[in-house]
Amino acid sequence: MGKAPTPRAGLPREKEESNAYANALAQFDRAVAKLGLKRGIEQYLRYPKRELSVYFPVKMDNGDIRIFTGYRVHHSTILGPTKGGIRYHQDVTLDEIRALAMWMTWKCALMDIPYGGAKGGVVVDAHTLSRDELERLTRRYATEISVLMNPKGDIPAPDVGTNPQIMAWIMDTYSMNKGYSVPAVVTGKPIEIGGSEGRIEATGRGVITTTIEALKTRNMPVEGSTVAVQGFGNVGSVAAAYAHKVKMNVIATSDITGGVYNPRGLDVPALRTYADASGGVAGFPGADSITNEELLTLKCDVLIPAALENQITSANADQVKCRILAEGANGPTTPDADEILVDRGIFIVPDILCNGGGVTVSYFEWVQGLQSFFWEEEQVNKELDKHMIQAFHQVLAAAEKYHVDNRTAAQVLAIDKVAKALLIRGIFP
Ligand code: NAD
Repeated sequence: MGKAPTPRAGLPREKEESNAYANALAQFDRAVAKLGLKRGIEQYLRYPKRELSVYFPVKMDNGDIRIFTGYRVHHSTILGPTKGGIRYHQDVTLDEIRALAMWMTWKCALMDIPYGGAKGGVVVDAHTLSRDELERLTRRYATEISVLMNPKGDIPAPDVGTNPQIMAWIMDTYSMNKGYSVPAVVTGKPIEIGGSEGRIEATGRGVITTTIEALKTRNMPVEGSTVAVQGFGNVGSVAAAYAHKVKMNVIATSDITGGVYNPRGLDVPALRTYADASGGVAGFPGADSITNEELLTLKCDVLIPAALENQITSANADQVKCRILAEGANGPTTPDADEILVDRGIFIVPDILCNGGGVTVSYFEWVQGLQSFFWEEEQVNKELDKHMIQAFHQVLAAAEKYHVDNRTAAQVLAIDKVAKALLIRGIFP
């Protein structure tokens, strides 16, 4: 089991701002200050419920054995089984996974999904592995975390660096050990083995659904509004495609290969085809190149960070020139940056709301898997849009009621729900 959670106080300022768990706790502190919870409850919710660290061997194609580090953290099981993605990235740390698990708890509560929060990760740059190595790593990691993972208790999904194929290997590994197929053990699977219609698109679609609501509340037109998207993976590329479909003007995007910019608008379908074929957006014809830093400070109506945490910090928040910040990624904005953005009147659609479409359709997929009864895409999207729009307006109403920014409002709603469940269950008399 891993070491105790890092407290926020005591870290050097710069290190503290880039520590996702310290940031999650700072956000939590802002929200609970509005709730007046019993101290015991507040303390309890600051910590993960359980953490697993695993160190496991994988045979590489050249015959070498490499030892990899992986984690699975459950933040809360109060509202139901734990749910949360699995990240493959070279910078994964236990603190990052703790933060992502905590945000999942708040996200599920806010989206009215009966799950607690979890997250998993492996410290690996998946781009450096062959397909066979990736499969062996995935099957071994799945076996290692199967002491926690199961369809009734803990259900993983894709996150940065993982995809439906990886979910298929996890489902197969778990099923092999059971002796029968267990589709409900993961979500984000390919349709052929029990995935849901609309799951791949769900997060990006939800990002744009909430962005459209934000534009409406600001009296800004949807058609022609300019959008910049950082990250062109599952979330970013779908958000860009959906924005393009509703006639927003996607002027820039970026990924690890570089960034592209065209003030007249990018041809997003052509860009997706290009990025699929070439491995990234860099060099897309008909666009200028732009750095990741420049993209974040472009003048635009909507900025969608859809890559990693800590992209908007105290170092660049005063240069961000969007009117709406729609957080496709988890934790892209640090608490210090938040204060600057809110002071500058930038409207934030916070991560636990903005990217909540992914877990919402994951929940639909899980329900379909348990019932072996599958829905049409139209039904999935209708239910998804309903959840997103309802949560958006609940957050706005809470921001007004508690006189707080949107992120704090979203967390107040979520934490209050979990705290009430704790009391009802009698965990805190
Ligand atoms: P992904 O691996 O599919 O895509 C990540 C993208 O970000 C890639 O295009 C990558 O090249 C790019 N990227 C990485 N570092 C970058 C950098 N420094 N600058 C610019 N681009 C960079 O991952 P994803 O599933 O799209 O997840 C993106 C974010 O959305 C993460 O924060 C994740 O936790 C969050 N999220 C994902 C889902 C989901 O359903 N996949 C749901 C909710 C939230």
